[in-house]
Amino acid sequence: MPQGPIAGAPPNSLASPQHLTHPLLTTSVPQVDPPLVVAKSYLIVGAGFFGAVCARELADAGHRVRVIEKRDHIGGNSFTRFHPEAGTHQHVYGAHIFHTNSTEVWRYVNRFAEFNHYVHRLHVAYRERMYSFPINLFTLHQLYGIRTPAEAEAKLAAVRVPIEHPANLEEWCLSQVGPELYETFIRGYTAKQWGRDPRDLPADIIKRLPIRLSFDDRYFSDRHQGIPIGGYTALFERLLQGIPIELGVDFLADRDTWIGKVDHVIYTGPIDAFFNYSEGVLAYRSLRFQDALLDVHDAQGMAVINYTEPSVPFTRILEHKHFDMNLQCPRTVVTTEYPQEWQRGMTEYYPVNTAENQETYRRYCARRDHLALPVTFGGRLGEYRYYDMHQVIGAALATVRRLLAG
Ligand code: FAD
Ligand code: UDP
Repeated sequence: MPQGPIAGAPPNSLASPQHLTHPLLTTSVPQVDPPLVVAKSYLIVGAGFFGAVCARELADAGHRVRVIEKRDHIGGNSFTRFHPEAGTHQHVYGAHIFHTNSTEVWRYVNRFAEFNHYVHRLHVAYRERMYSFPINLFTLHQLYGIRTPAEAEAKLAAVRVPIEHPANLEEWCLSQVGPELYETFIRGYTAKQWGRDPRDLPADIIKRLPIRLSFDDRYFSDRHQGIPIGGYTALFERLLQGIPIELGVDFLADRDTWIGKVDHVIYTGPIDAFFNYSEGVLAYRSLRFQDALLDVHDAQGMAVINYTEPSVPFTRILEHKHFDMNLQCPRTVVTTEYPQEWQRGMTEYYPVNTAENQETYRRYCARRDHLALPVTFGGRLGEYRYYDMHQVIGAALATVRRLLAG
């Protein structure tokens, strides 16, 4: 295995101490040596946000870092590629909108890319009609003709189903918005997306969506939002600058050899695959993406339209150029997203957060906690959590802080 170079030196570690004896200093200042970093070798498995942020931070702290990635590109599921005929960056693994309330995370990503001011809004198509979504005052106007927050509150109070302790996603929705809104927007989409009856899913999956009694129709409420100008891949190239990366390498094909050659492994693949599925197979949801290049400059007027009817086999159609906020090209690329059941060998896009899967995951956590090997698990698949990008970055920064603290 070739030994990677030291990929990043600690900032200012070689800084001259001359400033300590500057003639303008009136008193003498004792010279303090910078703390010595005992460089360790880290192998990072996976070049998505978790792996790439860990790689950057560990390299900048003076450690030897190398990254392996089984795909033929960096960026994980956030990967974008430029589509020359449509003149836009394509979100290859589904729409990726960056949003966060964390100033630390926002400042962090802005070190590696400039973001445009895209704010995500989408519409729902249901039985030949289009609706504002997530549920807001305009949605309620479209369905019920009401016009004010007070009327909206009264309407919801009238349609809500009284369920004191909602036990699942369906009951929670009925208790919040009643049967008609649930049927129009949630039931069909959720059943398609997760391949399960909403009564068999936890409400947490949907609690991330706001229900607003104002005309605010933004999909996310976060303070910071945008898309990296030039695409996510350019951001990753800067994030990983100077760090050796090997693409097309599957860690699990030679797991023990890799572990034996480095001081520490950060693994961002599926935790059940790491343990050879010995505690059972965790459920994932997979996706199929169907792209089309169309000879129109704007096909649907916004980046995402959700299709909530159960009889429509897909969940959403993306039109990528809206993310770049550049509609000039006479052609456009659109992607139709079909959820599908995951089987071994397919890409694991979503952890399926049922009680049964959480129980299986807990068994893997017990194995992880007693592992005699220097391995840290992280990211959406390593922690089996429905993380968004900003959460993954926050978790990676916290992980590195923990590792550096010893
Ligand atoms: P990943 O991005 O999955 O990266 C893990 C990497 O590890 C992969 O590249 C994988 O190939 C590699 N790997 C796995 N196993 C091995 C192995 N054995 N050997 C070598 N390499 C391996 N988040 C948002 O914030 N906003 C959004 O709008 C948004 N939209 C999304 C839409 C879709 C359809 C999906 C699926 C996700 C979306 N997300 C969104 C979530 C976002 O994709 C994740 O939060 C983020 O990509 C997780 O980063 P990660 O590093 O944990 O995992
Ligand atoms: N959802 C829905 N109807 C919609 C959009 C979302 O019922 O039109 C539900 C669905 O269960 C989905 C969840 O809300 O899985 C979270 O939606 P989000 O858009 O955050 O999903 P993601 O972008 O992660 O696929």
